[in-house]
Amino acid sequence: ETAAPADKTPKKRLVVLTGPAGVGKGTVENALRKKHPGVWVSVSATTRKPRPGEVNGVNYWFLDDQQFSAKEKDGEFLETAVVHGLARYGTLIKPVQEHLAEGIPTVLEIDLQGARRVKQRAAELGLEVVYVFIAPPSFDELVRRLKGRGTESAEEVAKRLETAKVELAAENEFDVTIVNDDVNRASEELWGIIAKEYGITE
Ligand code: 5GP
Repeated sequence: ETAAPADKTPKKRLVVLTGPAGVGKGTVENALRKKHPGVWVSVSATTRKPRPGEVNGVNYWFLDDQQFSAKEKDGEFLETAVVHGLARYGTLIKPVQEHLAEGIPTVLEIDLQGARRVKQRAAELGLEVVYVFIAPPSFDELVRRLKGRGTESAEEVAKRLETAKVELAAENEFDVTIVNDDVNRASEELWGIIAKEYGITE
């Protein structure tokens, strides 16, 4: 009987996708998922209300404040953040570890604060991570997109722009930048990074 080889295969890294609000990281992630269903994107917990069409356990785990706090207290989160000062969001650590252990390409799509939190905790948790920053083609384009959503008040848009300006400056904290000039191109660039990381050839 041959002994199991020493752990020669480098551990596959968790892919953390982040970027300023309004940059379209969710859209890039959705395009990636559609074209490459072998990628597992973590289902976050949130205290915000589901939007029409959103399904519990698919888009998010929708929790009330009390349920969220209980999980936080029990150490179930890899990271949590209050996004736009409105709702709480958090990544559940167990499914992330399980998927990584199976060698399944594992992606988090989280806000900047959350990504920084993962950075602080990764070593302690034995997680290896590649941090991907999604950037807008230009600041003007980000302004256009934030306004174009049309779902927020002028005051809300102004607040988000202020945040976006600060968040854009965070790019140098991350390993790779993908410019979201076109969602299909950007998601394929992301796929390239994942395929290389997980040794997938197709
Ligand atoms: P939405 O409510 O529009 O689905 O998401 C709002 C923001 O929350 C997005 O920027 C998204 O990246 C972020 N977000 C979603 N899930 C998590 C999470 O688990 N942790 C953190 N820190 N941010 C998240």
